[in-house]
Amino acid sequence: MRVPFILMLLVSAGAVPASAQTVWPDSDPRIAALVAAVSETRLKTLVETLAGFQTRNTLSDTSSPTRGIGAARQWIFDELKRSSPKLQVSFDTYMLAKQGRITRDVELRNVIAILPGRSARRIYVSAHYDTTNIGGTGQIGANTRPPSPKPPPDVQQSPDFDHNATAPGANDNGSGTALTMELARVFAESDLSFDATLVFALWAGEEQGLIGSGAHAERMSKDKVSVDADFNNDIVGNSRGGAGVIDAETVRVYSDGPEDSMSRSLARYIERMAAIYVPSHRVRLLARQDRFGRSSDNAPFNQRGFPAVVFREANENFSKQHLDADTIDGVDFAYLAQNVRVNLAGVASLALAPPAPKVTNERNQPTIGRQPSGYDANLRWIASPGAVGYRIYWREAWSPDWQRSQRIGDVTEFVLPKVSIDDFVFGVAAIGASGHESLVSAYVSPARRDSDVKLVP
Ligand SMILES: [Zn+2]
Repeated sequence: MRVPFILMLLVSAGAVPASAQTVWPDSDPRIAALVAAVSETRLKTLVETLAGFQTRNTLSDTSSPTRGIGAARQWIFDELKRSSPKLQVSFDTYMLAKQGRITRDVELRNVIAILPGRSARRIYVSAHYDTTNIGGTGQIGANTRPPSPKPPPDVQQSPDFDHNATAPGANDNGSGTALTMELARVFAESDLSFDATLVFALWAGEEQGLIGSGAHAERMSKDKVSVDADFNNDIVGNSRGGAGVIDAETVRVYSDGPEDSMSRSLARYIERMAAIYVPSHRVRLLARQDRFGRSSDNAPFNQRGFPAVVFREANENFSKQHLDADTIDGVDFAYLAQNVRVNLAGVASLALAPPAPKVTNERNQPTIGRQPSGYDANLRWIASPGAVGYRIYWREAWSPDWQRSQRIGDVTEFVLPKVSIDDFVFGVAAIGASGHESLVSAYVSPARRDSDVKLVP
């Protein structure tokens, strides 16, 4: 029988200094070796080839062997197959009816490469490979259009829209596509045995409204597939912002709320692992789903309850986006390689760790209480398969990140005497035999609605 592990802590409300740091696990030389295996040269070759298809618009030509989305998706498929025999490569195909920016019925193909793990739970690395050229002055034109009460016409919905116009998409999103393909190679070539199944996904239809990722996420949700994380990358290769700022040492990671969602937990995890394995690069966390008024393929995952974040370069150049100007000279490959390494550190650590503990009961209530004294923090959780221990995290309820942690044994209940569950946020992570930690599952106060007030008529 598992008994509660009682820790006598000299902690009382207010005693946690804001500067206190949690203990980070030691670096794993096997992950460090994978980080070192990322090839900047290959990234450059991949982006050059992708841009060389001239356009990868979802509605572009599919008959040419050299230009358009048909040639591009076949090359991505073949290149993933060539990377490693361990990758299970397939087209994830949908027949789309005419809708919105999809101005005719069309076959959409995502390209998926799966590296099976010991368990079926999935960790995604993803990027859209399609491109668009909206003409005019592209995205900077949209950004600088004078405010108007009427929404501007959507040029992509126009029957005259040219889907075969040159749209090389070197950065949007050749950068994310190359990142995903390079990680597929590095992970498949390693001889590590991962607990999670890794899925490298290249989406189409993003520029028409997240269509490829949406169709796939919907299928995963219907099939009740367990998706533990999606590392989505969209526009991650340029270090020279259009406003003049140059920063090759920062990447932005956006995560959807509320404050203790698993997407936020994933974002914190990425920052932590990057600090261990890629200390020369800074992860800038942003507590919102994405940039203002813009979205990417993490959104359909978020909408279906799957933890997902999106990586974005630190400073964008909007005058190159969604135009024929999105060319290879706008990509900084040393910077892109750093962003690949940051993704890798997070994905590898998470895939080597057990799944995150479940901290809710059948009624979806958090399994936290004040027992036994009525003034204690009593945490309970469901054991994670493969866990050999756990780590408890806590922080002031006004703080964005964990301030304290405590490694504990293979138990499913833990009591912090005289620590108020009203004043601190608590979470628990599972630790595997190799020392790798899962995401932190936080105890979140459930939303409740009081009954309506009855007034005498
Ligand atoms: Zn994009």
